Amino acid sequence: MRQRFTARAAVVGDRAGTVVPDAVVDVDDGRIGYVGPAAEAPDAGDAEVVALPGVLTPGLVNAHSHAPMVLFRGQGEGLPLERWLREVMWPREARLTPEDVEVAMTAASAEMLGNGITTSVEMYFHPERIAAAVGATGARAVIATPLLPLPGLPPMEEQLRAAVALAATAPDDGTVEYGLGPHAAYTVPLPLLADAAAAAREHGLLLHLHVAETATEGADLLAAHGLSVPGLLASYDVLGGRVLGAHCVHMDDGDLDLWQEYDVAVAHCPASNAKLASGVARLRDMLDRGIRVGLGTDGPASNDSLDLLADTRLAAAMARLAGRSATALTAAEAFWLATGASADAIGRPDLGQLAAGRRADLVHVDTRDLVFEPVGDPEDLLAHLVWSADGRHVRDVWVGGAPVVRDGRSTRVDVDVLRADVAERAARLATG
Ligand SMILES: [Zn+2]
Repeated sequence: MRQRFTARAAVVGDRAGTVVPDAVVDVDDGRIGYVGPAAEAPDAGDAEVVALPGVLTPGLVNAHSHAPMVLFRGQGEGLPLERWLREVMWPREARLTPEDVEVAMTAASAEMLGNGITTSVEMYFHPERIAAAVGATGARAVIATPLLPLPGLPPMEEQLRAAVALAATAPDDGTVEYGLGPHAAYTVPLPLLADAAAAAREHGLLLHLHVAETATEGADLLAAHGLSVPGLLASYDVLGGRVLGAHCVHMDDGDLDLWQEYDVAVAHCPASNAKLASGVARLRDMLDRGIRVGLGTDGPASNDSLDLLADTRLAAAMARLAGRSATALTAAEAFWLATGASADAIGRPDLGQLAAGRRADLVHVDTRDLVFEPVGDPEDLLAHLVWSADGRHVRDVWVGGAPVVRDGRSTRVDVDVLRADVAERAARLATG
């Protein structure tokens, strides 16, 4: 099937911040063909024409999420991390059923699509239920099966074997892929981390783990091994291959050297890092060193919105504050972090940009709002996207050329029914 999308402008999601006014995006069988000005577009032929009054952008790529935690949104507000985990999160998670995860992920996936997020990297229990959920909403996901020594879960070696076996069952249509998600160096035994990394390299899977999120998480490891968390990961042969570290807040120059040497990517989660007071990642230094960085919401229990456009603004604001410079991160770079850069960071060059050959994951942003005025030149639209827009401005969304959000509503699932279901399950999980 051939489609032609026309729009007021297209923001392509590259590092330079290219904005194409009076744009045409052609789609053939779910892949992007021509992207450019209408005046230079090839003949539309028999393509179905979709004329959009607003701005067309690539689907946003959420590089780090535990989206089923919409069940715990706002719970334990204001508690320090340790008490928040022990008193609020873990007791609830111990009561989770596979159905809870599927319903919550379906609702969260619809919410993300409504905010323009077409792909998310998920790390949560019952990965096959997460896959079913995104199948229902029409989104994409890279699902890192969590590996974690918790009471009630099988031994770690068994978890790893099962996760590798599950990865082999993924369809090859780019909708769902599975990765390995050993939680972190301070929670997973180091030899198991090494085994998971070796398995990820052998099978070409994404290895996704939390790294240097808090100032103290590495203290015990440093005392025991005399190495920082990144140094320890390198010494256990965990780095190399397709590795994505979430947070990476507390990194010294030597740690960044390792990230460069092994081409480790970072999922930068500014909203979560701010809410939990984890710290401010060295985003500018990472980008200057050529380290791949994507933007993540983190889970909705620590963000709490699943609104990557809002986080784009926060990433820019925090980078500028940290650098005490209004030029520390440009609007173009901030938007790229949520799109093209994020796709690179998760190892998916088929996503994240409006460019020929990539998958046609498209977002139509409604610009009939005062926050999008004035527009002196087309680049102003990009600045407004970063500094003024939120998920609420997303009007329509396509994944692989198929409509999944129309006029702000999911075309696939009933979000009102899902909301009621999530509320009921959340109440049960809170009380046991
Ligand atoms: Zn996380």
